[in-house]
Amino acid sequence: MFGVVPRPLWEKKIPPDHRHRIPLALRCLLIEAPNALVLVDTGVGNKESEKFRDIYGVDNGGDPTRLEDAIRSLGFELEDVDLVVNTHLHFDHAGGNMVARSDGSFVPSFPEARFVIQKGELEFADSPNERVRASYMGKNYKPLVEAGRVDAVEGSTSLVQGVRLLLTPGHTPFHQSVVLESQGEIAIFLADLCPTSAHLPLPWIMGYDLEPLVTLETKRTVLERAREEGWILIFQHDAAVPWGRFKAEEDAGFEPMETGETRG
Ligand SMILES: [Zn+2]
Repeated sequence: MFGVVPRPLWEKKIPPDHRHRIPLALRCLLIEAPNALVLVDTGVGNKESEKFRDIYGVDNGGDPTRLEDAIRSLGFELEDVDLVVNTHLHFDHAGGNMVARSDGSFVPSFPEARFVIQKGELEFADSPNERVRASYMGKNYKPLVEAGRVDAVEGSTSLVQGVRLLLTPGHTPFHQSVVLESQGEIAIFLADLCPTSAHLPLPWIMGYDLEPLVTLETKRTVLERAREEGWILIFQHDAAVPWGRFKAEEDAGFEPMETGETRG
């Protein structure tokens, strides 16, 4: 998760277990926009093998996963989700797009939703390159494409009132973040541009990133603007800090925000 950063540095921020794994959230974002209920990313889902779940230490039990339980606990039904945005199609972000039923068949997890994915990411996910291929699993998105349930978008664009998609390349060439605007505040769901608050320093970039030097420049641009304009930063993979923002004073660091309950 920390690429070229030496372990003596990163293990002080997030200590690993005896199998060298660190705790990570697979946080999804549910947005109550004025005219749509929007879900950003769907976690790892329930379609993977016992071996896979052991390797990654997946803890995602629920009905059928923690994601659906969390949505219901907020008073919504799965049918209420209008749009699902995938920041990219890696298995820990799009794995819950399709769900395995008890008879072994796979169906879309959100029966009424359209799935919003960058056109370039859809094409890139079909890359035959072995390094790229390992993180993509066709079962998470191909059935949706075939069923005509995908809206392929190109570049940064407005999604619905108050919600904007922002192309943030580097982790993958067409990775996107989601920018929210409400009541004079701006928040950004960074996704894998900056997966945890430990990744805020510009060169702390994941080994998973396919174009780390592109990530570096995207981070520079986005985080500079976030600092200047006081954006709330939302971290998808940070097990301890769901969100926060830069402190107002010059060169003061970053401050986690007091949070209500966060789930899933
Ligand atoms: Zn990720």
